[in-house]
Amino acid sequence: MRVSQKGKVIQLSFMPRFFPVNCYLVEEEREITLIDAALPYCAKSIVDVAERMGKPITRIILTHAHEDHVGALDRIKRIHPHIQVYISERDSALLKGERRLLPEEPNTPIRGGIPKKISTIPDCFLREGERIGSLEVIFSPGHTPGSVSLFDTRDRHLIAGDAFQTRGGMAVAGMLKAWFPFPALATWSKEIALQSAKKLADFEPRLLAVGHGRMLEEPKNAMLKAIMEAERKYTRSVMKGE
Ligand SMILES: [Zn+2]
Repeated sequence: MRVSQKGKVIQLSFMPRFFPVNCYLVEEEREITLIDAALPYCAKSIVDVAERMGKPITRIILTHAHEDHVGALDRIKRIHPHIQVYISERDSALLKGERRLLPEEPNTPIRGGIPKKISTIPDCFLREGERIGSLEVIFSPGHTPGSVSLFDTRDRHLIAGDAFQTRGGMAVAGMLKAWFPFPALATWSKEIALQSAKKLADFEPRLLAVGHGRMLEEPKNAMLKAIMEAERKYTRSVMKGE
């Protein structure tokens, strides 16, 4: 596990060399919010890092319900049963293993690993624009239908789940990067992911923290470039009728 810190955001990166899976501890005055829950075996390391910080984890916010973002959820809850778990209502269905689309959603299959045996029941459904501690909830669907991002209002740090990736080259969800293709292969709707990427760039974050890859400071230009690339590729694929 590699630990890196930017201000109040601490990135825990598991298997950082060949398949980085990240989760984040966000430090508040008296407590810690855990964003995402990596893989099952990561539970103890996550809890240990928080313990060393001397503050309790009081909540877990899940950016989306893919297996590599919720894996340690049950184990962490077993260690600290009082922790409150937050997820969007839409992705709470995925958390239960339910892949069915809603009638109003574009008819493209939900991709990626959906957990099969998570027993934790979320305590709260996230609402767009609400504040949880210092974090503002931004709905950013596309990678999954109920993906969210968190914007730390203290220093404009954005934790974007898999709406972007930085491993293998900066990319909007759904854009295939040969050196790390997995987030793209697990993305539900490229079109909606692109809209969400633009929405996130409008927040003008000073730090971008994602599910796969290193944190990026002053990410504005890189985000805009990735958005332009996604737009070009997406338009081309629509014109070809793909
Ligand atoms: Zn992921």
